[in-house]
Amino acid sequence: MAAFRFSRTSLDVAALRTELADPTCGGYTSFEGLVRNHNEGLSVRHLEYEAFEPLAVKEGERIVAEAIERFGIERAACVHRIGDLAIGEMAVWVGASARHRDEAFRACRYIIDEVKHRVPIWKKEHYENGDSGWVNCERCAAPPSTPATDASAASAHQHGHGHDHAHRHQHEHSATTGASSTPAPDYSRQIALKEVGARGQSKLRASRVLIVGCGGLGVPVISYLAGAGIGRLGLVDSDRLEASNLHRQTMYALADVGQRKVELAAARVRALNPDVDVRVHGIRLDATNAAEIVGQYDLVIDCSDNFSTKFLLNDVCVQKRLPVIFSSVYQYEGQIQVVRADRDGPCLRCIWPEATRDGIVGNCAEAGVLGPVPGTFGSLQAFEALKLLLDLPGQLGQELLMLDLLTLSIARVRTKRAATCPDHAQLAQAQTRAPGDVAVEVDFPSLDDALAAGFEVVDIREPQELVEVPTPTAKARHIPMTALLHGKPAFTPPAAGKSLLICASGRRSLAAAEELRSRGLNNVYSLRGGIARLIRTVSA
Ligand SMILES: [Zn+2]
Repeated sequence: MAAFRFSRTSLDVAALRTELADPTCGGYTSFEGLVRNHNEGLSVRHLEYEAFEPLAVKEGERIVAEAIERFGIERAACVHRIGDLAIGEMAVWVGASARHRDEAFRACRYIIDEVKHRVPIWKKEHYENGDSGWVNCERCAAPPSTPATDASAASAHQHGHGHDHAHRHQHEHSATTGASSTPAPDYSRQIALKEVGARGQSKLRASRVLIVGCGGLGVPVISYLAGAGIGRLGLVDSDRLEASNLHRQTMYALADVGQRKVELAAARVRALNPDVDVRVHGIRLDATNAAEIVGQYDLVIDCSDNFSTKFLLNDVCVQKRLPVIFSSVYQYEGQIQVVRADRDGPCLRCIWPEATRDGIVGNCAEAGVLGPVPGTFGSLQAFEALKLLLDLPGQLGQELLMLDLLTLSIARVRTKRAATCPDHAQLAQAQTRAPGDVAVEVDFPSLDDALAAGFEVVDIREPQELVEVPTPTAKARHIPMTALLHGKPAFTPPAAGKSLLICASGRRSLAAAEELRSRGLNNVYSLRGGIARLIRTVSA
């Protein structure tokens, strides 16, 4: 059966199940989303679904293929109704057949969630009182008598049927107009550039870019890259919008305050360009999740406001040999640097061997900033990203560009690979290991952060050292290095967790972690810089 299709007639679940049946599978799960009879306090009589079919089918097929690949299941399919639907009718069906039930559940869940977020389908509700409205998101779904900006009323409401949040934000604020067709994205103004052309446009279409941070730097990056037609945009942010953000984060509205930025930004991208496959990562990047997320992209743009994220991205991108575009702003000035880890170029640690820690240089909250400063640097990042993806001349290579917007002075500082760079040394080591291995050294601002991230902390220093400098957490195991490597019974990390080895400087713990990894214990890590660095961070 087709992986994804639309149906203008009622769905026959028994027939769909038969179509999907696979004699090798012991598990079958389905999700059935039904039309319910109310929304926003209004009684709904019936509703209509409309889709931009060619694009929707393509995206739907992609989602089902992703689920099959990701969960290793045998078969899956999704059928979505379009046209007029009565109360109680089935709007969407998802089925998954797998050898085991867990994969079947997870694949089914993945498909419905992704379809909700990514497939361009719109829903029009017809109410008992004779009104009707296109329903996209909670706010847009407010009935015509309620001001569209009444976020509090909207956010309090809960949808009851399985399919409701499905198509939010596809048509922003069109609740009363009932607009039913969206013009197609038009890239003619950039294709007209001879350096871009149709070939360049297809390069952009095939690109996958991760944007870390949806704030002052991220907003222009997101807007320009969505407009340019980048194939996949990943957005990372764990913060909610605050009113004090708005002077520099121009994509958001006052009525959005309190909502998750990453969702707001994703909604903007969908409204701006339905061609873009936008992926939401509503988390804070840390050593446990960064490699997995970054691995889904070809280029990373760092729009974060803290050094631990920047160095984490640096380390992961050097490991994975991915280019990353960094920028930082401070009051009236900023800097931008492109780390071509894919071409063995200098990285952040080559330039800042004693990594600057958070809290030493002020961020926007403490130091203050004028809105156009991050706007300028985010625009420069977007431009460097397009230069890189389109292979245009004049790319910022082995240099750091600094710009002071008060004096309009520009400085370009040449950067070079440092022989002592720990990341590059580690990369050289990693190249001798099997592919698929993950970084041994990880960074944490404190041991509590490591514990929170699911690590057990193992202090491998000698007893005398513990007397002089106690472990900076009460929740640590103490196993001196010799016992760790040669003790009986042999050391084993917790079955479901990871062990973080720590020592005074990070050297012994790295050696011990490498040794344990070589014995096949892959969930052993070493704290970079050891306890000395934790103490420096605290006292700074
Ligand atoms: Zn380096």
